[in-house]
Amino acid sequence: MSPRVQSAYAELQTRVAASRPRDDHELLRRAFEYGARLHARQRRRSGEAFILHPLAVASVLAEMEMDTVCIAAGLLHDAVEDTPVTSEQIAREFGPIVAHLVEGVTKMDRLDLQGPTQTDARQAESVRKMLLAMVDDIRVILIKLADRLHNMRTLQHLPPERQRAIARETLDIYAPLAHRLGMGKMRGELEDLAFSYLEPEAYRRIQAAVDSRRAGGEEFLEQVQARVRTALAEHEIPARLEGRIKRIYSIYQKLERQRIDVDQVYDLLALRVITDSVKDCYAVLGVIHSVWRPVPGRIKDFIATPRPNMYRSLHTAVIDASGQPFEVQIRTAEMHRMAEEGIAAHWKYKDGALAPTADDERILWLRRLVEWQREIADPAEFLAMLKVDLAPEEIYAFTPKGRILALGREACPVDFAYAVHTEVGHHCVGARVNRRIVPLRYHIQNGDIVEILTQPGHTPSRNWLSFVKTSRARQKIRHWLNVHERERATEIGRRALEREAPRFGLSAKPMQETELERAGAELGFPKAEDIYAALGYGKISARQLLAKLLPPGKRTAEQARRFRNPRRPLKAGTAGPILVRGFSDLLVYRATCCAPLPGEPIVGYISRGKGVGVHAATCSNVQNLLYEADRRIDVAWAPAAREPSEVKLQIYTDDSAGMLSAITAVISEQGSNIRNIGVRTAAGQAVVELSVDVADAPALAQIMAELKRIPGLHAIERVQGSKGREKG
Ligand code: MN
Repeated sequence: MSPRVQSAYAELQTRVAASRPRDDHELLRRAFEYGARLHARQRRRSGEAFILHPLAVASVLAEMEMDTVCIAAGLLHDAVEDTPVTSEQIAREFGPIVAHLVEGVTKMDRLDLQGPTQTDARQAESVRKMLLAMVDDIRVILIKLADRLHNMRTLQHLPPERQRAIARETLDIYAPLAHRLGMGKMRGELEDLAFSYLEPEAYRRIQAAVDSRRAGGEEFLEQVQARVRTALAEHEIPARLEGRIKRIYSIYQKLERQRIDVDQVYDLLALRVITDSVKDCYAVLGVIHSVWRPVPGRIKDFIATPRPNMYRSLHTAVIDASGQPFEVQIRTAEMHRMAEEGIAAHWKYKDGALAPTADDERILWLRRLVEWQREIADPAEFLAMLKVDLAPEEIYAFTPKGRILALGREACPVDFAYAVHTEVGHHCVGARVNRRIVPLRYHIQNGDIVEILTQPGHTPSRNWLSFVKTSRARQKIRHWLNVHERERATEIGRRALEREAPRFGLSAKPMQETELERAGAELGFPKAEDIYAALGYGKISARQLLAKLLPPGKRTAEQARRFRNPRRPLKAGTAGPILVRGFSDLLVYRATCCAPLPGEPIVGYISRGKGVGVHAATCSNVQNLLYEADRRIDVAWAPAAREPSEVKLQIYTDDSAGMLSAITAVISEQGSNIRNIGVRTAAGQAVVELSVDVADAPALAQIMAELKRIPGLHAIERVQGSKGREKG
């Protein structure tokens, strides 16, 4: 055994003896000797003895103060993958837990998480397997992260394409995972290493910029520290101070996002104050603010509201006399350790404990992910969701009562509503941000005060899925839709069948379920409930189904007759119309061709896979659509509260000063909201194009009547049918 290997092991042993005095050190020694024997003939690409790699991994784990079971597994982590030894042999030698951990890491090694070279489906599958292994025993991922860290530290020995692929995977999956598990130190190093391989130019540029400011920055931090030390001593607050310069990759992200210069990064320099108690943290904050002026809106209290990865600290940004901004992070020693080591910190004071407590937020997050991945069938969507979930949470918004909620970038009021409570999400109809009404698609900004407006009886809309950003909101909406949409489809299908049955000389009401199921089976839907839902979703038509219900002899005759006379007027069905409650209603959507308003005469038409399209009775498309008469369904406006709808108007006027303000005044007097307004002028005439939110048909009539009274206004047209044909 080389002296290098021996000294590496000796160092490991010393470290573990200090950090885990009561652990099984014999286990560690046996694992090292066993591993060294197995890997004896192997070398790494760098030419060094292979065992130095497992030793380095074990040393990273020892630095995290992991238990010897975990470190032993770290020493053996490549044994099953790279040597003839089996998992069973490991179990016999070192017990089932070590074997289980090694097996977990081995499985993970076999996963291919490297994106572009494979399909979404395969990548998603790999991620799922990894998540499952992690939930099983979180130490598997800690070993894997330590393994990846050492591989990244020695990446220079691999060929360039491998370097890039591994760096990409590190940046996409492992660094965010470390972040999500609260392991700030691990994440920082992985990111910077990966970034230096992926964007070498940008990396060098930022590094040079930081280096040129380093001397000045360090001097500046010294002065700041001296000042804080004196002030805290005066107030008798115990504290340890440290300065930090922001990591290169996180500077890069900030520069990219905000399109600013390195000098404008206000938290390039930060001072950390580590004190004894939560009470002292707030006291320190007070002292800091008495010395320097705080930047408004930059105080973040992650003690009262920890980040989802359990990060806790107080942050504030202040400006010194020379105008230099810097950040101060205030935390207790315990919070500091959690910020640096995250979930790994759990093992420190536990002797051989198996796992963090079950209510640990980070473990709950993992479990939730595993649950969701079962529900989401589309791999691309699962990956997109995972990426959002792994992304740092960076928007902090307040409830009117001052509670802080952490949301993802570009989160909207619906995300916020679901973060408050599931029911608040379901009943959300609107939102006020900083006291102003905003659309539900509004992107919440840091520090916004968000008030969610709810209405009992209101329900989620499928449309929300197109703009919510958090996986929580997405999952809750999807779940609600799955349950209720199917109910609605079943209802629509039942009515379509009842309506159409008499034309075939059949009655839907006493229809035998067995009969129905026999006919449905021919169309691929053997269960009665599925048949109704399929009808409601427009997957099959009532006519197709009823034809199958006819005795075989009558089938062809009926089909021939119908073919000759397809537009025979229909009798109304026995069931009432489908009530249209608004345009976000499940499976009932407003046809874009004619965009009917509440109160207008309407007809419904079952579109394939989309539910019931509601058209204005006057719509020209509808005449063509109703050719397939069995897809028609009676609809009526529900008397319930209505959402305002967008209406487009074209107004012909003289080109005169004050015309626009006269028009807008009329519309706002009528209590309607203008979404969009544009003017074209030619030869003294003007065409004003206007989008307004209108409650219903009478309200529109009223607005049009008022507008016509404006002098110089010649004509108003409602723009309909410009969006092309509605497809069946
Ligand atoms: Mn390895």
